[in-house]
Amino acid sequence: MATPTLLKPELYGADAHDGGTVVLHGGRCTCGHVFFPMQRYGCEKCGRDGDDLKPVALKGRGVLAASVTVHMHARPERKAPFTIGTVRLDEGPVVRAVLTGPVADLVPGRLVVATLMPVGDANDALDLRFMAAR
Ligand SMILES: [Zn+2]
Repeated sequence: MATPTLLKPELYGADAHDGGTVVLHGGRCTCGHVFFPMQRYGCEKCGRDGDDLKPVALKGRGVLAASVTVHMHARPERKAPFTIGTVRLDEGPVVRAVLTGPVADLVPGRLVVATLMPVGDANDALDLRFMAAR
């Protein structure tokens, strides 16, 4: 099977050494602050930049802090309805992402995990989604 294309490979990847688990490409400052996505412009906490900021693989697990279902979107190519979640990752950063799975499962406090799902008209690329952990 051919390896599917990732829609945003700069943001995430699949960890082949961990059963295909999704990893998020975050960063860690020498002060200990963890952030997403990886960047070297400056730490949000202490201001260090450059080589003080190192890439770190985030595990793609966290707690859903909030969710909202969009029923109508300004861009017709974005098919509604879909649900957006605010996820506090286990390592600390807060990310906003599209959720997948039954809406009843996507309530604040729920443990969620990252997954890669086919997207686009041809389902020819994988994009990041979060779903309720089993
Ligand atoms: Zn820092």
